[in-house]
Amino acid sequence: MIKRTINGLITAWKGLSLTIKHLFKSNSKREIVSITDDNYFKKQGNTNTIQYPKQQLPIPEVGRYQLEVEIDDCIVCDLCAKVCPVDCIDIESIKATEVIGQTSDGSKKMLYAAKFDIDMAKCMYCGLCTIVCPTECIVMTNQYDRTVFELKDLTYEFSDMSPEDAAEKRMLLEKQQAEKQAAKLAAMKQKEGGA
Ligand code: SF4
Ligand code: SF4
Repeated sequence: MIKRTINGLITAWKGLSLTIKHLFKSNSKREIVSITDDNYFKKQGNTNTIQYPKQQLPIPEVGRYQLEVEIDDCIVCDLCAKVCPVDCIDIESIKATEVIGQTSDGSKKMLYAAKFDIDMAKCMYCGLCTIVCPTECIVMTNQYDRTVFELKDLTYEFSDMSPEDAAEKRMLLEKQQAEKQAAKLAAMKQKEGGA
């Protein structure tokens, strides 16, 4: 009985001394070092907290965080939306009536992005969209903290078109298509008349 009690006290003391050791060690502030530093894992020891947001942990270069779209370089090909396994990219394109410019890599832009929304609440950060993008305009940034109060605010809107502009472009396209159709019909009639 006495032996058991002594063993119990020794075990309790060992556990308690370990807790006390960590309690005092964790008072030291976490030093921010690069992930490439040889001492990275050593220097992350002995601390429990960091003074966020003044202090931030280094993030690996290959980390996958919030998506960003450079809309000026987007050719609205829809590939990213098609490859997305969780359908969190919602794109609405409007065909332009002529070439509207070119991206920084020289690709012609023939479509407007009337809507380009990404629901980051649904995104599973697989990175597939960034891989298929032909102009590399959709990228994963090193931003991991975009705290919001409303769920809807996690839907990022990248289109820079106003609804009025989109309506105007749709109207111009319809007009052009109607003119093309009329010209086609006139050419057919002329052909039939000549035959
Ligand atoms: S990272 Fe994956 S889940 Fe997120 S938008 Fe891109 S393809 Fe979809
Ligand atoms: S794959 Fe790239 S270019 Fe195509 S719609 Fe998506 S972001 Fe734009």
